Amino acid sequence: MRFAALASGSEGNALLVQHGSTLLMMDCGLSLREVKRGLHRLGLEPAQLSAILVTHEHGDHIGGVPALASAFNLPVFTSHGTLSSAQAPFARLPRLMPFDSHDPTPLVIGDLEICPIRVPHDTREPVQYRFDNGQHRLGVLTDLGSLTPHVVHCLTGVDALVLECNYEPDLLARGRYPARLQQRIRGPLGHLANQQAAELLTQLDCSRLQHLLAAHLSNENNRPELAQQALAAALGCTPGWIGVARQRTGCDWRELH
Ligand SMILES: [Zn+2]
Ligand SMILES: [Zn+2]
Repeated sequence: MRFAALASGSEGNALLVQHGSTLLMMDCGLSLREVKRGLHRLGLEPAQLSAILVTHEHGDHIGGVPALASAFNLPVFTSHGTLSSAQAPFARLPRLMPFDSHDPTPLVIGDLEICPIRVPHDTREPVQYRFDNGQHRLGVLTDLGSLTPHVVHCLTGVDALVLECNYEPDLLARGRYPARLQQRIRGPLGHLANQQAAELLTQLDCSRLQHLLAAHLSNENNRPELAQQALAAALGCTPGWIGVARQRTGCDWRELH
C-alpha cells in the first residue's frame, strides 16, 4: 500500500491511497485540471481511479468531486449526513454510495477495507478514514477541533498517519483573521493546533509508525517547522523525519513495507 497527497490545506485537499489495482482518492477540492496535472506528476491517469471517498461538505474537500466523478463515472462514498448537506451538483451524481458512520462494518473497495472515523467538526456528519490492506493500516485525520476517545481507538497502532496540524495558537492570535473566524478555528468543532496533534501521538501506540505526515497546515497561521517540531517532541524523533503535505504540491508517494 502507498499514499500521496495532490494538495493539502484550506484551498483544496486530495489524497491518494493505492494498493494493487485499487486506487482511491480521499476528498477532492481541486479542479479537474489540477487533478489531472497532480496525477500525472505521480505517474497516474485519472482513468485508473477506483472511487472517491468524501469526508465532509466543506468546499476544500468536496468542491472538485462532481466534475471528477462525472468525467470518469466514479462511485462516491459519503456519509448520509454529508450527502444531505451537499449542494445540487454533488447530490445529483449517479453513483453515490452513502453509508452510516455509526455502522462498524468497514467499507470494502477492491483490495482495501476502509473504516470511517467520526470526528468533531462543524458539518453534518463528518468522518475521516482508516485504510487497511490486511497487512498495514494508514490513518488520515484532518478537519477536527478536538480529540475524542473514538479517534484514539481508531488510530492506535497504525503503520502510517496523515495528521492535521492546522495552526499555531500564537500565530492565529496575532494574525489577520477576524475574531469570529479565529474562534471557529480554535473551537471544539474547528481545527487541530500543532500541540493537539502532538497530544494525540502521546495517546496512540506509535510502535509501528513508518510514516507521519503533517497535513492541512494553514498558510496564514502555521509554519511547517513548527508542526514538525511539535510532532517530533511527542514522538522523540528528529523533526526532519516528519513529512509535511503542502497546499500546492502535496507530497510524493510514501510506501508501506
Ligand atoms: Zn478542510
Ligand atoms: Zn472542514
